[in-house]
Amino acid sequence: MTTSPMQILNSMPRARLAHLPTPVEPLPNLSKHLGGPELWIKRDDQTGLATGGNKARKLEYLMGEALRIRADSVITAGSTQSNHARQTAAAAAKCGLECHLVLYAPGASPPANLSGNVLLDVLLGASIHWTEEHAPYRETISQVEETLRAQGKQPYVVPYGGSSRVGMMGYVTAIQELADQATVTGELDTVVFASSSGGTQAGLIVGSYLTGWLGKVQLLGISVDEREATLGPRVANLVNEGAQALGLNWWVNDDVADINDDYLGGGYAVVGDAEREAIQLLAQCEGILADPVYTGRALAGLIDLVRRGEFRAGRRVLFWHTGGAAALFAFTRELGLG
Ligand SMILES: *Cc1c(COP(=O)(O)O)cnc(C)c1O
Repeated sequence: MTTSPMQILNSMPRARLAHLPTPVEPLPNLSKHLGGPELWIKRDDQTGLATGGNKARKLEYLMGEALRIRADSVITAGSTQSNHARQTAAAAAKCGLECHLVLYAPGASPPANLSGNVLLDVLLGASIHWTEEHAPYRETISQVEETLRAQGKQPYVVPYGGSSRVGMMGYVTAIQELADQATVTGELDTVVFASSSGGTQAGLIVGSYLTGWLGKVQLLGISVDEREATLGPRVANLVNEGAQALGLNWWVNDDVADINDDYLGGGYAVVGDAEREAIQLLAQCEGILADPVYTGRALAGLIDLVRRGEFRAGRRVLFWHTGGAAALFAFTRELGLG
């Protein structure tokens, strides 16, 4: 008897950490304000793990794997205001594992004031290792790993952004969750989301393949920090790794992912007019918080595409909110609010 991809997926070690299913809601006021398509939102900003976000879904599988190999500690890395680091710290606390975070800071010196995600990292009991190395922080992660092993510990390294063949499974199952919510949304034409380390987009693509959505529902990743030439092959690699892990006889090319890199603005975490407007619009039309680095930028992209008439009236477009609002508290000045 052969094992189906779904059976393989369902047998993967998984720690139940996220609040699922996350709600889907219409955005009537924002839709009316912009004119054009019918806008919906998928609330992965409500996944739990210390203020929510997309990493909770990935961490269910990553922590499942960490527990399977009997790790006693986890190591991961990110920028000072990394949502991934904060959610990993929360997941580790919940699973009873030590958490080590490698965080970037200029001069490897901690920020003068702890705020936003890094405040939560400390509160959640994580040990922070400041570094000047840039993403994906391989050298510093290895150093911390060596130190822990020398102390007789058994660390599990959670990859940068949680994007690996293991972590991406969180978004393979997420697409099935959204497909089940079609009774609420009706048939969707396009799903728009922020894309960065690629695991979310890769998981959504593999999930779409399994649910028969591929080619029917457009999955549009708005790149937050990389050109399509870099992000595209990264997503394609993950899709191939994930498909292989599920026993699928399916290989994709570098151009499998639909990526828009028109909204990189001033670079990673640089808040411009477009992000400021998008964050204010979502907050003031719908009472929902977008974040300054990822969802604010992706939403700004979506708003611009709507204004350019990219989506015909009557089309259903869903914005997949991937979280990050905790970072708002560290961006008062950049948001023009103080
Ligand atoms: C990490 C993150 C993303 C990007 O997801 P990837 O899987 O890394 O592409 C988007 N939004 C928020 C809020 C994030 O923290």
